[in-house]
Amino acid sequence: MDCLREIQGKQAHDPIFIEKMNTSASWRCICVPGPLIVGAGPSGLATAACLKEKGVPSVVLERSNCIASLWQLKTYDRLRLHLPKQFCELPLMGFPTDFPTYPIKQQFVDYLEAYAREFDIKPRFNETVSQAEYDATLGFWRVKSVGVNGKGTEYVCRWLVVATGENAEAVMPEMEGMGEFGGDIRHTSLYKSGEEFRGKRVLVVGCGNSGMEVCLDLCNHNARPSLVVRDTVHVLPREMLGLSTFGLSMWLLKWLPIRFVDRLLLIVTWLMLGDTARIGLDRPRLGPLELKNLSGKTPVLDVGTLANIKSGDIKVCPSIKRLKRHAVEFVNGKTENFDAIILATGYKSNVPSWLKEREMFSEKDGYPRRPFPNGWKGESGLYAVGFTKRGLLGTSMDARRIAEDIERCWKHEAKHRMAFTRSLLQQPSSDSSS
Ligand SMILES: Cc1cc2nc3c(=O)[nH]c(=O)nc-3n(C[C@H](O)[C@H](O)[C@H](O)COP(=O)(O)OP(=O)(O)OC[C@H]3O[C@@H](n4cnc5c(N)ncnc54)[C@H](O)[C@@H]3O)c2cc1C
Repeated sequence: MDCLREIQGKQAHDPIFIEKMNTSASWRCICVPGPLIVGAGPSGLATAACLKEKGVPSVVLERSNCIASLWQLKTYDRLRLHLPKQFCELPLMGFPTDFPTYPIKQQFVDYLEAYAREFDIKPRFNETVSQAEYDATLGFWRVKSVGVNGKGTEYVCRWLVVATGENAEAVMPEMEGMGEFGGDIRHTSLYKSGEEFRGKRVLVVGCGNSGMEVCLDLCNHNARPSLVVRDTVHVLPREMLGLSTFGLSMWLLKWLPIRFVDRLLLIVTWLMLGDTARIGLDRPRLGPLELKNLSGKTPVLDVGTLANIKSGDIKVCPSIKRLKRHAVEFVNGKTENFDAIILATGYKSNVPSWLKEREMFSEKDGYPRRPFPNGWKGESGLYAVGFTKRGLLGTSMDARRIAEDIERCWKHEAKHRMAFTRSLLQQPSSDSSS
């Protein structure tokens, strides 16, 4: 059963399969009275719930066979929410009080399942949206989806909500000699646990939250990890002064300018973690919050990796020059042997591959062009949820705004619909009296 689920999940992400289905499919057409939401991750669910609360029905399409496929199918076993639960809850329903501050992955998935049940959200699974285009003549969006069985469906709707996420596709960097390397090369989206790497020399490429945590997991399973650090990075303790670093930062930002808060964070971090540059992790010139605001680059919240780097259990390496059969040559001229390479190289949006619209979304990165907090609304009933680079907090803000906006149009149009229906009903009686 799990195996079938995995195959279906993989097909839903395979562009060749989608293309094949796209050309061979016989299309049927469905008119959606309310908004159509693409993606049943936290963003899609949050929007559907907010709409439901306002009495607006919606249809949710999901390429995988489950909700929150990123969390269920593409994350490692030891994953917990990086931020405290109060910053990760979706609108209208909090986490159960007995959940820990940082819920584990399964608890988060359980919460999302309960959320979907509470608001009676039943996504149409195994439907990959392959194309969406605004028909200006009709004044409607035409959205094509392809199912695993090759059946194509065209949805016609007045509102289209893009909820496919910032993490829709894995980013796989090109490296010289990649085809030559004899060991396993995989993206973190396919990494589950360090168990299968026990005793092996593993090179982890990328030092964001995932790369750092995968290194720690490998250490805990007695593998021998090395970490490629190609860029500067802010590593902060997950908690400081007995409070979550994120919560403390949000609170301080209410009273103090961002640069001052950054200074404070870096002083406390230095006192707690020492000078990270001494272990090969240089800090960016801008402070962590200012950098996040300007570029979206998230600081790493340390959950124990740094101690293993300090102790030498995790080795820090420079950029890769090329891969060889069983080794990696680095830009500093050194060569080391490795059994496997894990690419913690992040994800990208897939919006440009299916949405035929270039005003709201950038073709380059698949994000809304307008900066936060204005990226949620486009023209002609097009919306984006979950593209703020601000995690689930950003998702909640978008979802509420979108639901309020659509509700206004929905009610306005409902009045017209009712007036129109009434006039139709009155027509025969006035006819008969004349
Ligand atoms: C390892 C990891 C840990 C994280 N931890 C946190 C955290 O602690 N706190 C936090 O706030 N954020 C965290 N994030 C950020 C994360 O992106 C959000 O938590 C959340 O998953 C975003 O929800 P989403 O619905 O926008 O996107 P996703 O969860 O990616 O959901 C998008 C859905 O759209 C579907 N989809 C994509 N393309 C199509 C298509 N063409 N047709 C149909 N369906 C499609 C996908 O299958 C997916 O189910 C983490 C991210 C990662 C990778």
